Amino acid sequence: MRKITKITDNTKIKNFLKRAKYFEKLGLNSYMLPIQNAASSKVLVDGQELLMLGSYSYLGLITHPEIIKVGHEAMDKYGVGAGGVRLLTGTTDLHHTLEKKISEFKRTEDAMVLSSGYVTNMTLISTLFGKDDLIIIDKYDHQSIYDGCILSKADWKRFNHNDMDNLAEVLEEHRENYKRVIVIVDGVYSMDGDIAPMPEIIELAKQHKAFTMVDEAHSIGTIGPNGRGIDDYFNLEPGAIDIYMGTLSKAIPSIGGYIAANKDVITYLKFNSNAFIFSAALPPVSAAVALKAIEIIETDIERIRALQKNYTHFINGVKELGYDTLKSKDTPIVPVIIGNDVKTFRFAKQMRKAGILVPPIVYPAVPLDAGRLRCCVMATHTEEEIDYILAAMEKIGKNLKVI
Ligand code: PMP
Repeated sequence: MRKITKITDNTKIKNFLKRAKYFEKLGLNSYMLPIQNAASSKVLVDGQELLMLGSYSYLGLITHPEIIKVGHEAMDKYGVGAGGVRLLTGTTDLHHTLEKKISEFKRTEDAMVLSSGYVTNMTLISTLFGKDDLIIIDKYDHQSIYDGCILSKADWKRFNHNDMDNLAEVLEEHRENYKRVIVIVDGVYSMDGDIAPMPEIIELAKQHKAFTMVDEAHSIGTIGPNGRGIDDYFNLEPGAIDIYMGTLSKAIPSIGGYIAANKDVITYLKFNSNAFIFSAALPPVSAAVALKAIEIIETDIERIRALQKNYTHFINGVKELGYDTLKSKDTPIVPVIIGNDVKTFRFAKQMRKAGILVPPIVYPAVPLDAGRLRCCVMATHTEEEIDYILAAMEKIGKNLKVI
């Protein structure tokens, strides 16, 4: 066998590097642009002020003065890190208070927090499920759910995105062969901006004696009359979903992930999940910030309304211009389909020239010719800003013959 001397001497790596160089040469790289201030609705990149149309801080809480104050106070009291893993010496009273708050917010018996949303999915799925179990996931579920399935050693199957007939088929065909079966979906899909039809999923799961889990990374703080997420949106009974997972890094402007479920599930996970036992605890300052943010989401209904008004105004405007926005509805994520990757990168670059920062999403994250701008609307955008963005999208879209 030929001896390889360079670590990158591998077809997959070489193909990637070639593609990256090609876009760099065209001056179309839009990734990892360094933002020089807080990631709120206006940001500085290379000294240029840009309107942010891609932040996960949907409620614009990153710069909320009360949250910043709480963060300073937590740092004064607890220092800058946890200094240990949760199971041993990394748990503070703030972690307990945050977990209690999350369980109340999601109306479950108990909750736990970990230091990354990504790791939360991986550890939760792989700790609870294994041999003899079947995990059924929506094809468009987040990568961390896929990774959790792979790590779990359980069997896993996919159903077509939001396709309830296909989910029923998968359940009918495979349910009998397994002891435990769980259906895992995202509440709001991060690339398409649509919502999982939770009442139908719960009903199908019930019929087949399967459990349900939802990833609320993008639904918490954004959907439902009170911004409380998927159960609020569909007016579900408490406990209608077996396991709620969510992140503390989006509408809640901190870092980390949570699991909310019944007491036995959480107790088992706390003592058995590797990421809880072997990885450093969420820094107390991040816990304090997340806690305050949830209190604000619970009380500042005006902010929720502003977000919902803004995303409705934006998507109506984009549709009126003639863009394809897939099935996005009632969420702050609005995919605007552009086409192939070169065109999508060009569009993003022209948007930047017009003073708007929006991330282009291309293959392999999305299908080959479904490159898109993933527009994320915030509560802190003004109506004038949204109208300005729409006007720019009209001009650029016509220019590039997308509309
Ligand atoms: N789930 C979904 C649906 C996500 O979109 C993300 C992050 N984009 C995660 C989980 C991981 O969360 P975090 O970024 O907080 O690690």
